[in-house]
Amino acid sequence: MRLVSIRGDGEPVAGMLVGERVIPLAELDPSLPPSLTEIVRSWPSYRERLLDVEPDPGAVRPVEEVELAIPFEPVRVLATGGNYSAHAAEMRSTAAAAEPSGFLKLPGTAQGPNLPLQLRAEDRFVDYEGEIAMVVGAPARDLEASEAADYIAGLMLANDVSARNSPLAQITLAKAAPGFCPLGPWLVTVDELDLDAIEFAVEVNGEPRQSTTTATMIHSFTEILASYSRSVPLEPGDVILTGTPGGVGIGQQPPIFLAPGDEIVVSSPQLGALRTPVVAAE
Ligand code: MG
Repeated sequence: MRLVSIRGDGEPVAGMLVGERVIPLAELDPSLPPSLTEIVRSWPSYRERLLDVEPDPGAVRPVEEVELAIPFEPVRVLATGGNYSAHAAEMRSTAAAAEPSGFLKLPGTAQGPNLPLQLRAEDRFVDYEGEIAMVVGAPARDLEASEAADYIAGLMLANDVSARNSPLAQITLAKAAPGFCPLGPWLVTVDELDLDAIEFAVEVNGEPRQSTTTATMIHSFTEILASYSRSVPLEPGDVILTGTPGGVGIGQQPPIFLAPGDEIVVSSPQLGALRTPVVAAE
């Protein structure tokens, strides 16, 4: 199931994407909360009802006529680094550790599809990192990887935007500016996905930069979730970015950084396309 948030006059409302058409969830089951944020944050309460909803072909709008908001407002955004060997090499990072690394994306970084990434004149070393975002679907504490799949609600695309002028020790600050975490365009529930075979790619201005599959991850989704759950009690609505493959801007010869006028598209046959235009901050 692909879940979206539809922008309108008031708060965004939850919808389901069926083929290329969007159906507001409230028209299918009026007992569901109007907000996908509310649904995701209480995922164990709504999961079964959602999966039982019968799409009604009468109440649909083509997705291209709908303005999509961020699928939901994350509770927290955690992120792992160095999880694809080609990216670890281009960042001159040390060999893979037994446990995934972990850092934070601050509140205020998350934004939806098609919203502009605003760069100030001094932001001259800003880079993209196409990633898969894992959405936590149940309270998770001290998990083993073998059981962690049951705690994943689904996946989205993400862009872990990063300022490369900061030393690695400043990793949280380098990734914390407003808008530095585009997410979307929709949440795909885990029942539809083979977690080890998600393909994704990044183009900047139509030029291919990154391309891989989750089969090449150093730490799998379930290993990351289990590892983090041993440090942090995770909650439904928490989002975990799972690392970027090789091909970021600083890894190009010579390095290329983002500038106003650029357009970044993170795309996946399974997860859609997350487009972010880059503009000069006002
Ligand atoms: Mg990253």
